[in-house]
Amino acid sequence: LAAWITDFVTATEGGRPRPAAGKYADRFAGQLVLITGAGSGIGRATAFAFAEAGARVVAVDRDAEAAARTAERCRPLGAPAAWAEPVDVGDERAMEKLDEKVAAEYGVVDVLVNNAGIGLSGSFFDHTPEDWRKVLGVNLWGVIHGCRLFGKRMAERGQGGHIVNTASAAAYQPSKALPAYSTSKAAVLMLSECLRAELAGRGIGVTAVCPGFVNTGITSTAHFTGVGAEEEKRLRRRAARLYGLRDYPPEKVADAILRAVVRDDAVVPVTPEARLLHAMSRFAPRAL
Ligand code: NAD
Repeated sequence: LAAWITDFVTATEGGRPRPAAGKYADRFAGQLVLITGAGSGIGRATAFAFAEAGARVVAVDRDAEAAARTAERCRPLGAPAAWAEPVDVGDERAMEKLDEKVAAEYGVVDVLVNNAGIGLSGSFFDHTPEDWRKVLGVNLWGVIHGCRLFGKRMAERGQGGHIVNTASAAAYQPSKALPAYSTSKAAVLMLSECLRAELAGRGIGVTAVCPGFVNTGITSTAHFTGVGAEEEKRLRRRAARLYGLRDYPPEKVADAILRAVVRDDAVVPVTPEARLLHAMSRFAPRAL
């Protein structure tokens, strides 16, 4: 309990995020780190944090220009090498090609961060089968492809490694406005724990990172329909009332990701409300 209270206080103390580089420089020097959804938000901040810690970075994003921008900034930050790979993580064949290319040209991935994700709000009955395929296709299948391809090479190499999957506080919090998204994230959380059990003893850790509301593009209207954007605002207002939310920068999530790899944490709730939901997850939480 004391450790949890200390963590909670640290997480809620606010201020600028501490740079990861100084803390983790030796830990990641020369390692190959592949991050999906690296063109924006949490993925981009994570790419920069690993670059500052001396890692070689593969920035994957379906937005080719955004991936290229991230890779370009990684080198001046301290990455000995950085590459942009424009790939849709939900595209099975494209992910297989990426896996072959990375293995042939850059090497076996030491740290894999399956982070790409999309949001979609609307009621259960508003979601069409296509909506479900779209959300699960990226948020769940993207993680499955990353783990089964890069994770397999990691396991076959036999020199350890780490896999981080970005789930969400939505994995714990039932919501009538985010049925497909929340379902996808609950699945990512369970997938991560299953894979962690399977890889235990082989030097490969698996972490599910669960942020709450973070200031990134995913919470802008870009990913939501007109109704969805209103729903998103309602959710934020309600969550702010329930949890007293503050602005949470993606750099803090990146910092939590590097720390989780170093400590080999199984599940990392990041924001204050995510920590609360994680702690309460044995009890039935109220729907937002
Ligand atoms: P973001 O929109 O800023 O970044 C997501 C990135 O993923 C974008 O660059 C986008 O182009 C890319 N992407 C989307 N679909 C892709 C695909 N099929 N293939 C390759 N790249 C793709 O959002 P973010 O907030 O940084 O989200 C990152 C992860 O964090 C997501 O999995 C999201 O669900 C999760 N998350 C975010 C929050 C939050 O409040 N921002 C909270 C909990 C979890």
